[in-house]
Amino acid sequence: MADTSTYTVKGDTGDWEIVVGLEVHAQVTARAKLFSGAATDFGAEPNTQVSLVDAAMPGMLPVLNGECVRQAVRTGLALGAEIHRWSRFDRKNYFYADLPQGYQISQLYHPIVGEGDLLIETDAGEKRIGIERIHLEQDAGKSVHDLDPTKSFVDLNRSGCALMEIVSKPDIRSPAEAAAYVTALRQLLRYVGSCDGNMDEGSMRADVNVSVRRPGAAFGTRTETKNVNSVRFIAQAVEHEAKRQVAVLESGGTIVQETRLFDPGTGTTRPMRSKEDAHDYRYFPDPDLLPVELSEDFVETCRHSLPELPAAKRHRYIESLGLTDYLAGVLMAEKATADWFETLVADLATRTNKAPADIARTAANWASGELFGALKRLGLEIDASPVSPTSAAELLALVDNATISGSVAKTVFEAMLETGDSASAIVDARGLRQVSDTGAIDTAIAQILAANADKVAQYRAGKEALFGFFVGQTMKAMGGKANPAIINERLKAALS
Ligand code: ADP
Ligand code: MG
Repeated sequence: MADTSTYTVKGDTGDWEIVVGLEVHAQVTARAKLFSGAATDFGAEPNTQVSLVDAAMPGMLPVLNGECVRQAVRTGLALGAEIHRWSRFDRKNYFYADLPQGYQISQLYHPIVGEGDLLIETDAGEKRIGIERIHLEQDAGKSVHDLDPTKSFVDLNRSGCALMEIVSKPDIRSPAEAAAYVTALRQLLRYVGSCDGNMDEGSMRADVNVSVRRPGAAFGTRTETKNVNSVRFIAQAVEHEAKRQVAVLESGGTIVQETRLFDPGTGTTRPMRSKEDAHDYRYFPDPDLLPVELSEDFVETCRHSLPELPAAKRHRYIESLGLTDYLAGVLMAEKATADWFETLVADLATRTNKAPADIARTAANWASGELFGALKRLGLEIDASPVSPTSAAELLALVDNATISGSVAKTVFEAMLETGDSASAIVDARGLRQVSDTGAIDTAIAQILAANADKVAQYRAGKEALFGFFVGQTMKAMGGKANPAIINERLKAALS
């Protein structure tokens, strides 16, 4: 797809274009590790989730966790990517205290997932970012340096956890596009259920590759900033690194291909080590593991297990349900919210005997206003909403058939949140049913008009603005429970 962005860095000697490719490490949602049965819960006591395999005891053999394979394949399918029916694990050899094996099991030569793409939202519209590949690999343990300045500790709980490394093509052209890409990828992974996307727990982190070039020129030399762990930091790392490279190039220097570190405190990057090449790691096929062969059936079963994906859902909300871009975006941002909303719409459609498209906007406005407001006030996620979508549908159906007015519905909803009672139970117990009985309304109108003879005369002499006054007085006399449409109709008749 055409490059829609025109973001440039203005240098002293002209404009520079930014080129970015992201390598996102996403921890696979699975109860056990990639090659062992140890648990993967976040926040456990150090070294309590470590099997003999994860600690690399001599003679221990890895056994591939099928669930991690399934999640990688589902993720690949969600990215429209080619699934490699044959893949293999390689050893990436290096020494570090938190890597007891002395190598990481990864997939260099034959990754499980090949090329695909991801649609992102930019100010200039939608843009497709290419996906190069996804491979499965083990995470390392964690070195802890800040408990005691004289010692370093190693926590192996994370050692051996499954990661998907999702590698983008160098198609990203601005800090905002980098942020949009990570946001869209996180949303997709959460929809698929293959990664929880908790960036502050380290479930998702990105290596940010940045280079600059004159618009249209060949790609420049890139640097890679490691392990950046929030959307905002990723955008900052891109911006800082691009500006730094432009300054170096404009002062006659050259960019060296190197690995850099991001400092969240200052939003800047600094050198960590010169970039290593694949041969530095002495990659070779892991002799302890068989190649992974996937049957067509397995891949198809994975495909059928996918939910409706974000891009399709957003499109459907706008095209079929008639929601605005904004409301569609808000309601589909999280799958749990979308599921709640869709149950509400389906249930309300049944209760009112109307088409979903005819009640979806009402439901969307109510959910994004009343419901989200209440959940925010209560500090609750949608999954913990005290009111179920079915109960909410009952409430909105009472408004739809004029049993209660929209303003009474707000009171009823508050009571539902407090008591857990159903909408109709509250309406009955508190006598909130809207009065549509024309006799009672006519009596109230007659009293109001008799008590305000002067205003009636003024109205009849042409002061039509007084109509609202009569409506208000009648509603007040009816205790706020009269059907406003009927008040309007009967008042017009009485005044004419
Ligand atoms: P490595 O495995 O050594 O990190 P890859 O070729 O797999 O190298 O690329 C890693 C990432 O770097 C990819 O996301 C890719 O899009 C990105 N990339 C490659 N070339 C450039 C470049 N010139 N500028 C910015 N990013 C780049
Ligand atoms: Mg890399």
